[in-house]
Amino acid sequence: MDKEYLKKAAKETIWYPFTQMRDYTASDPIIIERGEGVYLYDIDGKRYIDGNSSLWVNLHGHSVPELNDAIIQQVKKIEHATLLGLTSVPAVTLAERLLHVAPQHFSRVFYSDNGSTAVEVALKMSYQYHVHNGHPERTNFIKLKNSYHGDTLGAVSVGGCDIFHKTFRPLMFETLEAPSPYIYRHRYSDNPKRAIETLIQDFAAVVQEHADTISGCIVEPLIQGAGGFIIYPADYLHGIAKICRRYGIHLIFDEVFTGFGRTGKLFAEDIVQVQPDILACSKGITAGYMPLAVTFATEELYSAFLGRYEDFKTFFHGHSYTGNALACAVAVANLEYMENNAVLDHVQRRMLHLEKLMKPFWNLPYVGDVRTLGLLAAVELVTDRTTKTPPAPPSKIKYNIAEAAAQRGAIIRPNGNVVNIVPPLSITDEQLTELVSIMHDAIVTVMES
Ligand code: PLP
Repeated sequence: MDKEYLKKAAKETIWYPFTQMRDYTASDPIIIERGEGVYLYDIDGKRYIDGNSSLWVNLHGHSVPELNDAIIQQVKKIEHATLLGLTSVPAVTLAERLLHVAPQHFSRVFYSDNGSTAVEVALKMSYQYHVHNGHPERTNFIKLKNSYHGDTLGAVSVGGCDIFHKTFRPLMFETLEAPSPYIYRHRYSDNPKRAIETLIQDFAAVVQEHADTISGCIVEPLIQGAGGFIIYPADYLHGIAKICRRYGIHLIFDEVFTGFGRTGKLFAEDIVQVQPDILACSKGITAGYMPLAVTFATEELYSAFLGRYEDFKTFFHGHSYTGNALACAVAVANLEYMENNAVLDHVQRRMLHLEKLMKPFWNLPYVGDVRTLGLLAAVELVTDRTTKTPPAPPSKIKYNIAEAAAQRGAIIRPNGNVVNIVPPLSITDEQLTELVSIMHDAIVTVMES
């Protein structure tokens, strides 16, 4: 297809996600044609560092021979067979491998096909467990302000980002909301230990009032991603986990973002050392190749669903593409690749480099906070360090910085006034230096214009 025609068609045919289409149709769209390593190439041949890992999914760069080959070999056998009544070789192989590398208290994986559905599964699993145990009144879920768990209505109901979720509030089921562990904007921000203690007390207060009605508590461990790259310590999770246990509330970890190496460990749970009852994963599970998700469950949870068919204890949930064979095959290859190439060791080394690279951002007067976790980093822009007022309007900052970065050869996607990078885990020190320098220049250009 002719390039100009393609650009016109890109604007006239697709309704893009999280995109103000009036702005998009007035812009010159970037159309990606191919990828190699950490680089994306558009139809004009321009090269970009994939600075957000194609929305946090890519692990080892693009077009990795071992992963390409896994799909090619699998498609020669079968592309998909349903898991409703049947199963497939890659689905079984992957489940077995996942349980081997996942925290040991999980004994089952339930497949679905994206992060939102992994969360839907977790919520339904939790509630139905309580129904089977004689507590259908446990219809409530506790969530955190600024949380993001996906865009389907169940996931939206447990979301806490007004900008994404407010419109749909009339459609949502009731939930309880505890404050976000946003230390930077907490009243005790100068004393993080005290801030965490207070946040745990606040959480306890919300729970105590409604304890008998709560099915589960869902959290993104260590970082609230889409809510603003809000990084918080494991102590907070230890505190809320204790409260959940006391009241028989399931603790659900949403590791859709943190799972598969982003934090420097395979799962954030490996760092936190708290055992949730349910764990939802997606994104990096296939290293960015295919849509796939798993929800891990403990044996106690799983066994509550066993019985005669007529007891109707079956977990009535599933999707047409659940456990897709191509996706499972590439996920198996991903796990092998991670092991064969000591990917987590590589990440540990890059993390140190990233921390060093981020330090100079403190010298910019409009940077209020600099945050890093594993192989991701964010800076929060403010107009004044004392009042911490965000620059307005955040949408303009966001798009202008993304555009300035693209002109300089990197794709990044700020969350409002929080500018972040989430590079592929395979990035080298030199590429990371280049990416951070582009991010820096883009911020300076926009904030000083
Ligand atoms: N949960 C978390 C923590 C996420 O970051 C996301 C997506 O960014 C989701 C759930 C939703 O995943 P998906 O976009 O695959 O539905």
